[in-house]
Amino acid sequence: MTYLVDTHAHLNHDKFADVEAVLKRSSDAGVEFIIVPGWDLASSERAIGLAERFERVYAAVGFHPHDASAADEASLTRIADMSSHPKVVAIGEIGLDYHYNLSPPEVQKRVFEMQIEIAKSVRLPVSIHNRESDADLIAILRRQVEAGWILPRRFDYQINLQPRGVLHSFNSTYEIACKAIKLGFYLGLSGMVTFGKSGESELQRVVRTVEPEHFLAETDSPYLAPAPHRGKTNEPSFVPNIIEKVAALQQLSAEDIRRITSYNAYKLFGVGEKPRPKIAYQIRNSLYLNLTLRCDADCIFCDRKGEAMVKGHNLHIDREPAAEELTAEIGDPTRFKEIVFCGYGEPTIRLDIVKEVAQYVKSNGGTTRLDTDGHGNVINHRDILPELEGLIDSVSISLNSTDPDEYRKLMGTPNGKQWESMLEFAREAKNFVPRVFMSVVGVDGLDADLAKEFVEQKFGAEFRFRPLF
Ligand code: SF4
Ligand SMILES: [Zn+2]
Repeated sequence: MTYLVDTHAHLNHDKFADVEAVLKRSSDAGVEFIIVPGWDLASSERAIGLAERFERVYAAVGFHPHDASAADEASLTRIADMSSHPKVVAIGEIGLDYHYNLSPPEVQKRVFEMQIEIAKSVRLPVSIHNRESDADLIAILRRQVEAGWILPRRFDYQINLQPRGVLHSFNSTYEIACKAIKLGFYLGLSGMVTFGKSGESELQRVVRTVEPEHFLAETDSPYLAPAPHRGKTNEPSFVPNIIEKVAALQQLSAEDIRRITSYNAYKLFGVGEKPRPKIAYQIRNSLYLNLTLRCDADCIFCDRKGEAMVKGHNLHIDREPAAEELTAEIGDPTRFKEIVFCGYGEPTIRLDIVKEVAQYVKSNGGTTRLDTDGHGNVINHRDILPELEGLIDSVSISLNSTDPDEYRKLMGTPNGKQWESMLEFAREAKNFVPRVFMSVVGVDGLDADLAKEFVEQKFGAEFRFRPLF
């Protein structure tokens, strides 16, 4: 099982008299790393003290909006000084809270922005508190991003999305979630996702709908204990209860959510480690085979040349696996719902390997799926569908767009015959493969309803939609 990270736990709070015992219980629950944020100078110093004492603990330093009135120039300079400590991984928690208004809103806003400036100058991410202050929060973040907000210093990779921080203990609307994600912020999910007796809360709707690549797990200890611990002092060992709920809403396994959120914590805070590249990787109960990183296309949303991470799995292989290596990873294929030829590249570039491994799966009673861009006939200079008959049980083809010009732009295939060939492949597929899916990614301007109609009526195929931020 993948280790967990509690990205927000106030072990510096006086409710925690015996931190050692708390850490022991968290370790027993698989929660390996804990980030302790401050809310004023003294609590930030205590956070650093804990980080110095315990290897698994990291600190964040900053003034909470409640305490913004106490943040004078000297204390903010002190926060900036503390941020150079090797175990300080964020400026936080900072932000806005218009529910209690314990500091006047104007002061909160000023101190929040001053601390963002500190985070920018020391290149650390921010951990943000936001309560009943959505509009001002988004306005400030947008202005700060537009004024230039470069990547936190720990990044050793490149992706389109530039993570700048987290909206900790997120509890706003879907609309705010989308805006925050587009500005480069993760959503920190706390015990609040487990709250609510009847029906679905707005937060649960957000968690069900947003891609988990934008989530971090946290307890916000000692507050907000998740079900079934409500009413108790919250502590990091309760992170698995939050993970379980997120997994149920996402229809993924708890292990999937553990892996994804722990990797996100590594990405944002540099805590934990980057997973090693894999040739076979599990999502839910399906085993995916990472055949190649090569592709004949170059989609604008593709991360193949960047990190090549999928659901917390590292697909950045430096060598293409042989058929025997793949069959060894599969073992008994009936252990899995299906064996999927996928990877971060186009599998039909290695058609012989696909056929050989699919033969192994089928003769051992398993089920197969091919995820493809539909360019297999162009790539192999022949009609490959008859060769897949009896070997592939379902095929998922990336449609990407219903408009040929848009398709060429999205896929980086300006002059080729890929569009025509993909449509032909999709039309013919059902004669050789029992189930045919066509999928689109939700890039700006895409009409998903139109794509669905196109797929179902023109091709008699099943439609799949994948959101993109
Ligand atoms: S077809 Fe798939 S692997 Fe190839 S560039 Fe597009 S998204 Fe990436
Ligand atoms: Zn907090």
